[in-house]
Amino acid sequence: MTKVPEIFSQKAKTFSFELFPPKTEAGYQKLLETIGRLAQLKPDFISCTYGAGGGNREKTLDIAQLIQRDHGIPSVAHLTCVLNTTAQILEILKDIHTRGIKNILALRGDPPLEHPDWTPGPENFKYSFELCHFIRTHFKSAFGIGVAGFPEGHPLCRDLREDARYLKNKLAFGGDFVITQFFFDNRTYFDYIDRLRAIGVAARILPGIIPIANYKTILQFAQRDKITIPQEVKKIFEPIQNDLEATAQAGVQFAIRQCRELLAGGAPGIHFYALNKSEAVTDILNAVR
Ligand SMILES: Cc1cc2nc3c(=O)[nH]c(=O)nc-3n(C[C@H](O)[C@H](O)[C@H](O)COP(=O)(O)OP(=O)(O)OC[C@H]3O[C@@H](n4cnc5c(N)ncnc54)[C@H](O)[C@@H]3O)c2cc1C
Repeated sequence: MTKVPEIFSQKAKTFSFELFPPKTEAGYQKLLETIGRLAQLKPDFISCTYGAGGGNREKTLDIAQLIQRDHGIPSVAHLTCVLNTTAQILEILKDIHTRGIKNILALRGDPPLEHPDWTPGPENFKYSFELCHFIRTHFKSAFGIGVAGFPEGHPLCRDLREDARYLKNKLAFGGDFVITQFFFDNRTYFDYIDRLRAIGVAARILPGIIPIANYKTILQFAQRDKITIPQEVKKIFEPIQNDLEATAQAGVQFAIRQCRELLAGGAPGIHFYALNKSEAVTDILNAVR
């Protein structure tokens, strides 16, 4: 199966999805159907989160493996440092390698709700750049490595220049490409690109786009991740927030406009936060690709 940087060498723009492992068996069965529908859209790759929001960590690799084996689509397994010792991470990396998964999104992660006070000890990595370095040290170029980018700055680092330097550092330690946090104001993304290019970052920065299907949920995500909700978004979605069908339709239209502007402005593709649903991202992708 292909490494994401190899796909980049063939394609100027890529389209990809992010999924998460459901907590229930019923959710898992539904996800398999969603993957089948998403696969028909022939995305360049599909990524699967690891432990995000307390999600089922064990299933990440099964899902990433299944995407490749059953659908022939390259997958990206997210992996976080949080809660794992370096010895455990080495075992997980061996497992990823054995399963033929060729791409990893190397993340620090956040302490989960069940362990809110967890802090890294001597057996843990503190930052994602250490994970990038560890992967390169043990597996050389066996994996394509992605890292997370934060156009509005990471919630714990609101100094945008400092945040940009940390991103550059992750790439220097082995990251090949970047997937961004979601955002709604494209200026934020373009300014981020300018900031990164100015300090010599050449890697592809894939914008992460989330379709608005439930405005209240999006507000919760935005509050958690400190993402700005622009006036334009408030104006469209506040009046219709109790009408889920109207919100979903407006969400698709908003995302189509957002993606078109990003692509026209030079973005090297779109990474969709599909939230394990296929309808909205299908309409958006068909309209923008
Ligand atoms: C595309 C994407 C996918 C994600 N997928 C998942 C997932 O699957 N599972 C999950 O649990 N979470 C996921 N997250 C959330 C992510 O784990 C959190 O945002 C986490 O707080 C930061 O992870 P990171 O890899 O960016 O950490 P890091 O790069 O380690 O950064 C963490 C903090 O430390 C600062 N920092 C970085 N380097 C240094 C340094 N050298 N010295 C001092 N400070 C530094 C940064 O500015 C930041 O404030 C994802 C986020 C994104 C954008």
